Amino acid sequence: MNQKRFAQSYSRREMLKALGLGSAAIFFGYEQLRSMLDGAAGFESGAMAANLPGCVVRPEQTEGPYFVDEKLNRSDIRVDPSDKSIRPGVPLRLEFRVSRIAGGACDPLSGAMVDVWHCDAGGAYSGFAQEGTEGETFMRGIQRTDRKGVARFTTVYPGWYSGRTVHIHVQVSAGGNVLHTGQLFFPERLTDAVFRRAPYNRRPNRDTRNAADSIFRNGGARSMLRLARQGSGYVGRITMGISRS
Ligand code: FE
Repeated sequence: MNQKRFAQSYSRREMLKALGLGSAAIFFGYEQLRSMLDGAAGFESGAMAANLPGCVVRPEQTEGPYFVDEKLNRSDIRVDPSDKSIRPGVPLRLEFRVSRIAGGACDPLSGAMVDVWHCDAGGAYSGFAQEGTEGETFMRGIQRTDRKGVARFTTVYPGWYSGRTVHIHVQVSAGGNVLHTGQLFFPERLTDAVFRRAPYNRRPNRDTRNAADSIFRNGGARSMLRLARQGSGYVGRITMGISRS
């Protein structure tokens, strides 16, 4: 078993244990289990939101079961390096502005690593046998923040999977320490509009919207991307204030 799969099965076991599910989990369908695991350990740090521009502290939220520590240093995460194919979908550029809050000041945090992962337009995560995507790494990437604390990615608007609202996972680290783990969310009306377009419209309607999502309900409204049209797609921006040093 390679390291990636080991890490995955380990975290699932741990999650099941934490949920007190044990072997009862076999009675759940895979999709159900997936959404339960993604929702497990959903919590919020209760951090106060500083009002300085660029210093908004976003709630901590679970990384879920689909984190893979690939360290894929690239900004265009639509590409699967295994065969150079590009995952289809409505273009989405992501811009993270990371700052450090210290002594009441708000300074750009340069050299931080921003790790992003999400499902493709069809709702599948890369790197999982159950998804039929083993060995693939689409929609995963990591970028270092520049002097202004900015990291950018090119991707597509995520699709949906059962039990979860549309979201993007993000983890910010520095010097090997995780500083923030969160999820980013989208306005419902925008998702509705995007999902009327191909390839999203080849799938049935999503089953979970923001208001019904267990993780969104724990502070998700404070982790909304600010979206604007850009060409045939969108640009999504978010500021993240890190209060830990
Ligand atoms: Fe997820």
